[in-house]
Amino acid sequence: EKPDRYAVMGNPVAHSKSPLIHQQFARQFRHAIEYIAIQVDPGGFPQAVDQFRAGGGKGLNVTLPYKLEAFRLADHLSDRAKQAGAVNTLRFEPDGRLFGDNTDGTGLVHDIQHNLGVALKGRRVLILGAGGAVRGVLGPILKHHPANVMIANRTVSKARDIAEAFAAHGQVEACGFDALKGKHFDVVINGTSASLKGEVPALPETLFARGALAYDMMYGDKPTAFMDWAVLHGAEKVVDGLGMLVEQAAESYFVWRGVRPKTAPVIEGLRRGSL
Ligand code: NDP
Repeated sequence: EKPDRYAVMGNPVAHSKSPLIHQQFARQFRHAIEYIAIQVDPGGFPQAVDQFRAGGGKGLNVTLPYKLEAFRLADHLSDRAKQAGAVNTLRFEPDGRLFGDNTDGTGLVHDIQHNLGVALKGRRVLILGAGGAVRGVLGPILKHHPANVMIANRTVSKARDIAEAFAAHGQVEACGFDALKGKHFDVVINGTSASLKGEVPALPETLFARGALAYDMMYGDKPTAFMDWAVLHGAEKVVDGLGMLVEQAAESYFVWRGVRPKTAPVIEGLRRGSL
């Protein structure tokens, strides 16, 4: 029998770890799957999806810059995709419809609560940034009843827009980085792309409460600028977004195949570089 076919579509996508991650998952269940990375040129996303479906594809992951287009393309959506306004997981239904889901926020929450052992309930949470990544993770974070969530962004109006959109789902406020002076947080999540350029948002140095977690959604071969900064300014646990990457993949695997892979051995293997 032919293996079930999956892929990740994005641009750039050549260095994606998703094929490796999903092959590890499939091995756990002895599933026969094929998972490839497909580089999609600007304007070519809908055709690429159609082509993949025509070739017998079962499901897709979608990464930058196509998460919004995937959202628009889906025939029906999960609640968490509707909330996020973006889709990172597509499933081709037997009746021909295209189902859109978003597993990024669930993946982040899973990493924080299960892998790092930090419960969000009752915590003061600060989220830095107000782009697609932050909008995508806010719903699942609020579902776990933090005491409150502050969204801080360089462009304050964008933080306000997101806070307003989620006001019905919990205690959410917005501000600029300056207004964080004198405030303390138990969980600080960096959802800006500043780390890409080795930069750290202009934050007050007294941000971290005792025992705080500093979480950068970015990941790479070495600690990010935000992680270095957090260590220096008193965060107790400091981590990158590799766990989130593997957890969102596991959740996508569940959406496609109804079983949730073990993530710990895959995260460890990626960190050791032994996969
Ligand atoms: P966007 O381009 O939509 O948003 C970028 C955000 O970063 C904006 O809020 C922007 O502020 C802010 N920003 C950029 N540079 C700086 C700076 N020098 N100082 C302060 N703020 C800055 O990006 P996304 O939301 O799509 O992605 C954000 C990050 O999340 C990326 O690094 C991405 O890799 C990561 N990510 C990780 C995932 C994982 O699985 N681990 C999943 C999804 C995303 P402003 O509005 O003022 O311009």
